[in-house]
Amino acid sequence: MTREAPGAGRFAPSPSADLHIGNLRTAVLAWLFARSTGRRFLMRVEDLDDRTHDDVAQQQLADLAAIGITWDDEPQWQSRQRERYDAVITELAARGLSYECYCSRKDILGAPRAPHAPEGAYPGTCRDVTEAERAAKRETGRPPALRLRADTGQYTVTDLVHGDYTGVVDDFVLRRGDGVPAYNLAVVVDDALSGIDQVVRGDDLLASSPRQAYLAGLLGYPQPVYAHVPLVLNGEGKRLAKRDGAVTLAELGVSTAFGLITESLGWPASNMGELLARFDPADLPREPWIYQPV
Ligand code: GLU
Repeated sequence: MTREAPGAGRFAPSPSADLHIGNLRTAVLAWLFARSTGRRFLMRVEDLDDRTHDDVAQQQLADLAAIGITWDDEPQWQSRQRERYDAVITELAARGLSYECYCSRKDILGAPRAPHAPEGAYPGTCRDVTEAERAAKRETGRPPALRLRADTGQYTVTDLVHGDYTGVVDDFVLRRGDGVPAYNLAVVVDDALSGIDQVVRGDDLLASSPRQAYLAGLLGYPQPVYAHVPLVLNGEGKRLAKRDGAVTLAELGVSTAFGLITESLGWPASNMGELLARFDPADLPREPWIYQPV
């Protein structure tokens, strides 16, 4: 009898700054969701951006290990996988599912939009231009981004915290003007090729999930199940940041940080094993955790 391979969960930090207690809490939750369902757990360094740094990534991995998070396989580094993104971009182009976009951010903000067009959606300026118009845009010398030619305006994902969530799908960027594969493309390709079928992350990314799941569908990948967990906010209700005070593991120490995380979740435990035994997704706090650094 062959046993079906277990799926996998993951944590995918961007190495632009040290992880703070909010990031660590999200990582702990991703680990708990994966391990409590018999899944593997994978680590991915999302270092495609030029603001990311190797030494920061190494420190992030060390902090995650120090807090008790374990992972299977070697961490994957997006910057070492450029060919896989390029191959998918080539495939989408060959299927007529992408187009060049010459718009600047200002062009997009200033573009006329249909009365009910959703906030933040690309207005489609470059979607149906003629070849002559495209040639004129090329003349300007601005290197084009590549956008998806989406055939829907919305898509529904299954989220363990938010239920069925329907959100905007627009002609989002697949490859930036500087040639770097866009986050929304890379994340979909990496999750699928690594067998990740459970995506647990901060709820600031909930609105991106319909775009990502729609793209996964176009590429024939399975749909992951999502859990977008509440973020950690500072005393002013804003997203926690380094300038808020003692927020990193180096500043707090492992046992204080772990204690704060378990306390915020309402599951007292002194290590990850005990936390796993207490973990119940139905009891997950639904409100942001307000963290006031000491
Ligand atoms: N790298 C992203 C971040 O640090 C997370 C991406 C994801 O989990 O899909 O915000």
